[in-house]
Amino acid sequence: MMPPVRGTLTEGRPLADLTWLRVGGPADWLFQPADEEDLAGFLAALDPAVPVFPMGVGSNLIVRDGGLRAVVIRLGRGFNGIRVEGERVISGAAALDAHVARRAAEAGRDLTFLRTIPGTIGGAVRMNAGCYGSYVADHLIEVQAITREGRAVTLPAADLGLAYRQSRLPEGWVLVEATFRADAGDPAALARRMDEQIARRDSSQPTRERSAGSTFRNPAGFSSTGRADDTHELKAWKLIDEAGMRGARRGGAQMSEMHSNFLINTGGATAADLEGLGEEVIKRVFQSSGIELQWEIMRVGEEPVNKQ
Ligand SMILES: Cc1cc2nc3c(=O)[nH]c(=O)nc-3n(C[C@H](O)[C@H](O)[C@H](O)COP(=O)(O)OP(=O)(O)OC[C@H]3O[C@@H](n4cnc5c(N)ncnc54)[C@H](O)[C@@H]3O)c2cc1C
Repeated sequence: MMPPVRGTLTEGRPLADLTWLRVGGPADWLFQPADEEDLAGFLAALDPAVPVFPMGVGSNLIVRDGGLRAVVIRLGRGFNGIRVEGERVISGAAALDAHVARRAAEAGRDLTFLRTIPGTIGGAVRMNAGCYGSYVADHLIEVQAITREGRAVTLPAADLGLAYRQSRLPEGWVLVEATFRADAGDPAALARRMDEQIARRDSSQPTRERSAGSTFRNPAGFSSTGRADDTHELKAWKLIDEAGMRGARRGGAQMSEMHSNFLINTGGATAADLEGLGEEVIKRVFQSSGIELQWEIMRVGEEPVNKQ
C-alpha cells in the first residue's frame, strides 16, 4: 500500500520518455510530489524496505529495459523557484540549470557555467556537474534535502563530499533546494558569454542527438612532475579514438562520430544496446591502452526478464 499523497502517484509508469536517451522500462511507482510537505509525509509513511530513486530530467541516466523496482521521485512545479539575494542564488532542485544561469545573469550574478548543462539543479549537485573549468563544488554553500525517513535537513556543501562528477548523498535522500555563491558580473557580458558557450558546444558536441553527455570519466592524469593529480590530462575521447571505437555501433546505439565520448541513440536503441556498446568500448580501450574507463553515465534498474 502506498501512502496517500496530494501530488501524482502512478503505478508502472514507463520512464523512457523522461530520459534524454529515451530508453528503459517502467518504474514500479512514479511520485511527483506537490510540495516539500507532501514529499516528507510520503517518505515518512513509506515502507522503509521500498527503495527510492530521485531523478531529474534523466540527462545522465540509462534506465535498463526491465525498469526500476523502486519509487521514482520526480520533482516538478513545487520545486523550481529561483531567487537571488545579494551574492546568493537559491534554487529549487527541479529548476533547470540553464534557467538558473539565466536568472542569475539577469540579476548580475555569474553562474554561467551551468548554462550548457541540460539537467536540473538536483542532478547538478548530485553529480557535481561542471564545465569550462567551474564545478558545482566551487559555488555551492548548502543544500536542503528530505531524508529517506522524511526528515527535512540542511547540509553544508562540505558534507556532500563533492568530487569529480560525484558526491556522497545517502541513498534515497531527495535534494529539494540548493544555495550557491556567485560572483558579480555585468548582465550583458554574462549573456554574451553564455551565447558563446552554446555556440562552442554546438560546434563540438552532438547536442541535437539523444545522448547523456560524456559517457566515461576522463581518467585521472599524471602531471609532468610525475605526481598523480586530478587535472584529467588523459581524455576519454582520445583513448576511445585510439581503440578505433569512434562511430562504433550496436543495434541503434552508436559512439558519436562528432565526439567519440558521446553514446547516442540513433533511433530504436534499447538500453541493452547502449550499455552493451559502452561495455565493449571499455574492453577495447583496456586492450589498446591498459586503462579501464569508468562510466560517468549512471545505469540503473533491471535487465528484462527473459520470457522464452
Ligand atoms: C548533451 C549533454 C551535455 C552534457 N554536458 C554536461 C557538462 O558539460 N557537464 C556535466 O557535468 N554534465 C553534463 N551532462 C550530464 C548531465 O546533464 C549532468 O550530469 C546533470 O547534472 C544531470 O542532471 P539531471 O537532472 O538530468 O539528473 P538525472 O540524470 O535525472 O540523474 C542523475 C543523478 O542525479 C540524481 N538526482 C537527480 N535529481 C536529484 C534530486 N533532486 N535529489 C537527489 N538526487 C537527484 C539521480 O538520482 C541520479 O543519481 C550533459 C548531458 C547531456 C545530455
